[in-house]
Amino acid sequence: MTTVTNSYIELRKYMDECQRHIKRVYVHTADHEGETSVERIRKVHLRRGFTDIGYHFVVRQDGEIQYGRPINDKGAGVKTDNRYTIHVCFAGDGDIERWTDAQVREGIELLITLCEEFELDADQVWGHKEFWTRRKQRHKKSCPGKMVPMGRVRDMIEEGLDMTMCGEFGETRVNGGEVLA
Ligand SMILES: [Zn+2]
Repeated sequence: MTTVTNSYIELRKYMDECQRHIKRVYVHTADHEGETSVERIRKVHLRRGFTDIGYHFVVRQDGEIQYGRPINDKGAGVKTDNRYTIHVCFAGDGDIERWTDAQVREGIELLITLCEEFELDADQVWGHKEFWTRRKQRHKKSCPGKMVPMGRVRDMIEEGLDMTMCGEFGETRVNGGEVLA
């Protein structure tokens, strides 16, 4: 079943139900060009042998936020780092598509809400591949994608949503010492 959040009050209530201790939020790409949905990703993940969609939230290109795996259940987004984390997936192919303005607006708002609810700093919001890059380990993943500047995402979480920053999405640039290409 897919539920679409209707308001941030509802979203906060939903987050309040989480009994898990959350230390980090991961950002992912659906890795599928164009719009997608929880239903579609769930099908792919079930075929892969998962018990459910691996992500807790999906941010569609139209800005709609969908509930994925129940927040109380540990997700399946980063091997060996699922127990204390929440996984947020953005529709589109992050290597070739920028987040839409609606995704920036609603997605950053969702990440801000998650940080407030679980008392996290912006620096505890990682792109999937940062699981390795921050440890200086070799990896093959580009998730959440070359077009997603995680340093800018964290700035927006910390400083508040500023839509004028949207123009910076999709550029290859250096953020917090990390080359994003
Ligand atoms: Zn990922």
